[in-house]
Amino acid sequence: MGRIKVLDPETVNRVAAGEVVQRPASVVKELVENAFDAGAATVKVALSGKELESVTVSDNGCGIAGEDVPLAFERHATSKISSGADLERIETLGFRGEALPSIAAVSRMTLKTKVKGALAGTLLEIDGGKVVKFEATGAPSGTTITVRDLFYNTPARRKFLSSWKTENTAVTDTAVRLALGRPDVSLSLSYGEREVFRTTGAGLLSAINTIYGETVAGALVPVSAETEGMRLEGFVGRPALSRTTRRSQTLLVNSRYVKHAGLNTAVYLAYGTLLPTGKHPFFVLHLTVDPGVVDVNVHPQKSAVRFSREREVADFIRGAVKSALFGRTGLIPGARSNPVRMPVQQRSLPEWSDVLRRLGGREDPAGAGWQPAQGETAAGAATEGVLAKEERALYGERFPALSYLGFIRPTYLLAAGPEGLYIVDQHAAHERVLFEKYASALARGGITSQMLVEPVVLDTVSVELRAVAEEIERYGFMVEPFGEGTGLLRAIPAGSDLDGALLLLADLTACLAAGDPLDHERSALASMACHNAVKAGESMAAAAVTALFDRLAACKEPLTCPHGRPTVICLSREELERRFGRR
Ligand code: ADP
Ligand code: MG
Repeated sequence: MGRIKVLDPETVNRVAAGEVVQRPASVVKELVENAFDAGAATVKVALSGKELESVTVSDNGCGIAGEDVPLAFERHATSKISSGADLERIETLGFRGEALPSIAAVSRMTLKTKVKGALAGTLLEIDGGKVVKFEATGAPSGTTITVRDLFYNTPARRKFLSSWKTENTAVTDTAVRLALGRPDVSLSLSYGEREVFRTTGAGLLSAINTIYGETVAGALVPVSAETEGMRLEGFVGRPALSRTTRRSQTLLVNSRYVKHAGLNTAVYLAYGTLLPTGKHPFFVLHLTVDPGVVDVNVHPQKSAVRFSREREVADFIRGAVKSALFGRTGLIPGARSNPVRMPVQQRSLPEWSDVLRRLGGREDPAGAGWQPAQGETAAGAATEGVLAKEERALYGERFPALSYLGFIRPTYLLAAGPEGLYIVDQHAAHERVLFEKYASALARGGITSQMLVEPVVLDTVSVELRAVAEEIERYGFMVEPFGEGTGLLRAIPAGSDLDGALLLLADLTACLAAGDPLDHERSALASMACHNAVKAGESMAAAAVTALFDRLAACKEPLTCPHGRPTVICLSREELERRFGRR
């Protein structure tokens, strides 16, 4: 007898659940997307229990007719497409007909639904994929689905979940992206009694304000551009809002949150030299394209997309963001229509390009000049590690004694030293000094704060800030809850000015609220150092430069900034001799 068997539907659904439902956040995503597809104006996500014992999503959308309810739980049963041809033009968030049967296979699910105008609704209870109750019931119009005991019958999957704190964070991140994807819908998220956020449904700026707080909402540049078959709408952060993490970047294609490296890069390229090295821009951008030119059927979780004309789309995004930032209507004071670039002639000298690369610059793929590094990709970090090692080999682990010679705009300090000519990046160097200073203050109990004479009222306290309000005190901030979603800022880190401190607060909260608690402290300290360090373009008095060199020399790791880029490079005597033809 042959050994190959067709699996029974229950097993098939459990297998599929492995792809579609990887964690509680995937349940939230699938259920809320269904609610959006059902035309809901209000969607509520309610979680309960420390270990996310239950997830309830309720909506006031179209509901499911009684006779359709069992079908909704059949695999590949969907009301959203009806033929292969429809796959070429997906206009809904769902279309695979996999979510409900997959989630039901690995949890205990209750569904209550009623179509508007119908006399009665339907109640369905499913336990590990088996229907245990199916009856008529009274219900408000719309659909409410409760998922309990996720993965109770797949212990292996449950074991692979991260800590509940991390899972909670993932749920919040997912809800935030969903809310930003459909700012015309009022979406709320609550854990037990605590409401994390509730968007108004009154548009993108309002949603951003609810989620990220007013400081962020006030530091944005609107983007709006259209070309044949494509439209880009949304907001990008002013350079001062640039963040230490990539977390606050949301790109939506036809209202679907997607990860797309190529299109993300297009946004970075638009910033050009406006973006401080190693920093990440804030953006929420809605790209609307003809459904025919984008393939969303690439990934079971539908978080990846492919474009038939990717290059064109990337160029469009780059141009649209660039003209928002630099154009006449752009809001950045003093921004030039062309970012400052290295003169082309210098690029033909390989040694200088080498120097630039070591400073963290990277060649613009379009060949137009130099662009800031785009940060912490694995490959990037590895290269930086190697380069830092080279520098170390050049003059040992310690920072050499230097005498200051002069300043090269925007950020380079020239100095003479034991091996030759040294070039120090003033921002990177100062960042290192502050990073170590703050780290030791933190280890001794906390960063000193200064009380504000008049507390500042925060009209909207961001989702992230509410989650980390206590932790933030170690970093010198004091925020007190103050009625409905508002707060009072009572203290900021000593030595900061208020405007800078508000931007730092937004970035710091993003760091602290981010996924891995092990990285929190490091990225929070790096963020503080970066915000308070002397900026590119600021000139320092000679005495200040000398003091900076001294303090850098006293650091534990003087040769790299907290992001791993070099603080100093050296043009050795041998190199000079070779360049002057003496060797
Ligand atoms: P898909 O979204 O890919 O169609 P799902 O398994 O997520 O597949 O849902 C199956 C079907 O159940 C949907 O096509 C839709 O008709 C119906 N459905 C699911 N959730 C809702 C909801 N909240 N409101 C109305 N209909 C829903
Ligand atoms: Mg769906």
